[in-house]
Amino acid sequence: PPDVESLGRATWTFLHTTAAYYPESPTPTQRAHMLQLLHALPQLYPCSHCANDLGTRIQRQPPDVRSRTALAAWLCATHNEVNVMLGKPIFNCSRVDERWKDGPQD
Ligand code: FAD
Repeated sequence: PPDVESLGRATWTFLHTTAAYYPESPTPTQRAHMLQLLHALPQLYPCSHCANDLGTRIQRQPPDVRSRTALAAWLCATHNEVNVMLGKPIFNCSRVDERWKDGPQD
């Protein structure tokens, strides 16, 4: 079975980086593709309890794909819910661009 920790780190890296470079004004097609990507995860993610948990979260709080800012904020909040569940520290979502897009600013 996959290593749930390294799979998780790799997947969060992919998702946060993809959100960081998603358009601020996405076309309807881009929005639909992003929704398809996120809705596919609970079906396909190869950690079944993680996948089920994510499916419940997406139902409670559907992804906001209207803009880069909204998507990054939704993803950060969702990742933080998983952090809380696992006893990990909460990430400050005002630093999401610094972490995943711009890098540290002096
Ligand atoms: P990770 O949580 O993997 O985070 C990687 C990096 O992202 C951090 O070092 C930090 O720089 C940054 N970061 C942290 N929080 C945020 C945030 N809120 N917003 C933006 N950046 C942030 N594991 C389980 O044991 N049970 C589960 O049910 C489970 N469900 C998961 C569901 C999904 C969709 C994913 C992608 C992963 C899931 N995992 C689950 C794995 C778990 O979330 C972690 O990825 C894994 O435990 C490794 O944790 P980590 O401490 O290396 O940091």
